[in-house]
Amino acid sequence: MKLGVIDYIDSAHYIPGHDQCGSLHGHTYKVEVVIEGEKNKSGMIMDFSELKRTIREALALYDHKTLNEILEYPSVENLCEALKRSLSERLHFPFTLRIWEGHGKWVEL
Ligand SMILES: [Zn+2]
Repeated sequence: MKLGVIDYIDSAHYIPGHDQCGSLHGHTYKVEVVIEGEKNKSGMIMDFSELKRTIREALALYDHKTLNEILEYPSVENLCEALKRSLSERLHFPFTLRIWEGHGKWVEL
């Protein structure tokens, strides 16, 4: 069974050397996490509030920050890899992470 939550961060970045994205600008990133597991005795895979809190902890590093100060090359792909690592340390389920950079553009890991 799968269970998912969505959260958002607002972050600034620029892509060094990129024609269109080389100047400092911002995005609202939509972050979707889908975990997979079995229900426990109380009928839940994981409490939604606990999952949301766990994700918030991992996102706090990036929310309202300039991503270039954290990631050398802050593409959404690299952000996704970094967040996946951070969430893997906190979540004890297999999970999928999808990050939307604005509308209509996403990466999944
Ligand atoms: Zn951008």
